[in-house]
Amino acid sequence: MSRFFSGRFDALEPYTPGEQPRDMRYVKLNTNESPFPPSAKAVEAAAKEAERLQLYSDPTCTALTEKLAEVYGVGTDEILFTNGSDELLYFAFLAFCDEGRGAAFPNVTYGFYPVYAEVTRVPYTEIPLREDFTIGVEDYLGLGKTIFIANPNAPTGIALGREQIARIAAGNPDSVVVIDEAYVDFGAESCVPLVREYDNLLVAQTFSKSRSMAGARLGFGIGNPALIRDLNTLKYSTNPYNINRMTMAAGVGALSDEAYTRRNCLTIRENRAFAAAELEKLGFTVLPSLANFLFAKHPAIDGGELYRELKARGVLVRHFTKPSISDYNRITIGTREQMQILLDRIAEILEGRT
Ligand code: PMP
Repeated sequence: MSRFFSGRFDALEPYTPGEQPRDMRYVKLNTNESPFPPSAKAVEAAAKEAERLQLYSDPTCTALTEKLAEVYGVGTDEILFTNGSDELLYFAFLAFCDEGRGAAFPNVTYGFYPVYAEVTRVPYTEIPLREDFTIGVEDYLGLGKTIFIANPNAPTGIALGREQIARIAAGNPDSVVVIDEAYVDFGAESCVPLVREYDNLLVAQTFSKSRSMAGARLGFGIGNPALIRDLNTLKYSTNPYNINRMTMAAGVGALSDEAYTRRNCLTIRENRAFAAAELEKLGFTVLPSLANFLFAKHPAIDGGELYRELKARGVLVRHFTKPSISDYNRITIGTREQMQILLDRIAEILEGRT
């Protein structure tokens, strides 16, 4: 720390992104990226747009917003695009929380929520998951805090139904409820159809997972126009050109190829069912995931050790050291071939231990 670093951030512990190693080629199942390339339409549009990079990007994201409004059946004033959904979450902490109105989220969830709370100096409450790793809806009623729920949750993959989210929104009419749907396209119910009914509901989504565009950094929020205006106030106060030209063009391209996205999501769901069944055959406990990852533990090997043994064999998964989940590993669903390599390596590691 330099002697110039603000004392406000003395205790700040930054988010730790998943490893992006360059030392060798891994079967990379650690950051929930898509194993498939982006749509050819996205790639082509981005390449063409590169020729205009001397110009700033459109701060209103008009073409992209109109395309998303058409695909999602919402109004253009109900949408805000951000630099990854991470930026939307950050804007939501800035816009809808403060020292008087804290945040609440599960004690096992996306690791960025507590970091955003810290950096925005918002007090926060971590609500324990139930024993089976599910979110207890009753625990979220009448909280008087801004609520952040990843649905499906990460790293568990377990999802609430739309009706359960509706109960939480209805049970907190004077607080914003942010539903982070980063993984929703892999089988969970989206709450976008609820935003007209609940003016306190903000849905966050991303192009990083189902649309294979993690490297482009494109996320968006859908909610009541008044919430979107508030978020725009934060955007125009920090980074009006938050979406670059190539990403904006790629986003339009991806949205004009929804059949490709749907096909890839279906493949991931098939590979998820295959991998979960095979892991169970090997003795794993696998949580019921509706995301593009599995959260699994084995009675014969510690989570950290399995992570290290897999890494030594060229397969990268994500391990969290937090005690309540340190038995587990989070495994991104890749291609069928990648899943087979994972299973073969795990079988090797388990040999002699069971
Ligand atoms: N929410 C959750 C639950 C996530 O796991 C992630 C991805 N790490 C994000 C949001 C952010 O994704 P992005 O910024 O790439 O849209």
